[in-house]
Amino acid sequence: MKTVYEKPKSLNDVHFHYCPGCGHGVIHKLVAEVIDELGIQHKTVGVAPVGCAVFAYNYYNFDFSQAAHGRAPAVATGIKRSKPETVVFSYQGDGDLAAIGTAEIIHAANRGENITVIFVNNAIYGMTGGQMAPTTLVGQKATTAPYGRDPKTMGHPIKVSELLSNLEGVTYIERTAITTPGEIMKAKKAIKKAFQNQIDGAGFSMVEILSQCPTNWGVKPVDGTKFIKEKLQEVFPLGVYKDLSEERKGGK
Ligand code: SF4
Ligand code: MG
Repeated sequence: MKTVYEKPKSLNDVHFHYCPGCGHGVIHKLVAEVIDELGIQHKTVGVAPVGCAVFAYNYYNFDFSQAAHGRAPAVATGIKRSKPETVVFSYQGDGDLAAIGTAEIIHAANRGENITVIFVNNAIYGMTGGQMAPTTLVGQKATTAPYGRDPKTMGHPIKVSELLSNLEGVTYIERTAITTPGEIMKAKKAIKKAFQNQIDGAGFSMVEILSQCPTNWGVKPVDGTKFIKEKLQEVFPLGVYKDLSEERKGGK
């Protein structure tokens, strides 16, 4: 029988622990497919966050390191600088990257570290219990904002891609969403480019992916995608925020 699809070699043959309708499984698969296609499995090192993807090292079939909450860009910097032949990426949620690790991501981006960042934005703290994240929408309920986020006392959602794209050190930033087969393929293309940039020595690349967390949004698993399209994308528009990939190839 002809094989039309098989699990990427960069994923282990184990079950994910994620909730029904969660976006992490899809994103894991896209990253693994890209690593297989680029033929870099033997030299890839991932850095796992604290958050729902804390067990990423169990799912990927290549080297992994575990960072303290929010510190993945600092750990990725250390690995990449000491072993420049490796391909290093951090995999981080919005609680991890945009709150606890704000300093790490801003400074790694500003230094133009030649690393790849996969930023999974589901507008809420997942694993720790549905607390308000910096990316939580105005009016969105969270366990620490039971009446909904009020910008008067809680500020407005932080738009990380827009913020980081203003920094000189950044080479490439794109925001995607895993809502439809077409958008999922666009997300994969962006992930591939972010890894290719690192291989080319082009510098800091980040792909933000709007991802489903039906459990903490209080919606049915089947309605997670609708929430992204109707609510998240209004505040976090999809698109390329910066792209100097060609100009910076070879470390220019
Ligand atoms: Fe996914 Fe949300 Fe469940 Fe975490 S809490 S596994 S992000 S659906
Ligand atoms: Mg989150």
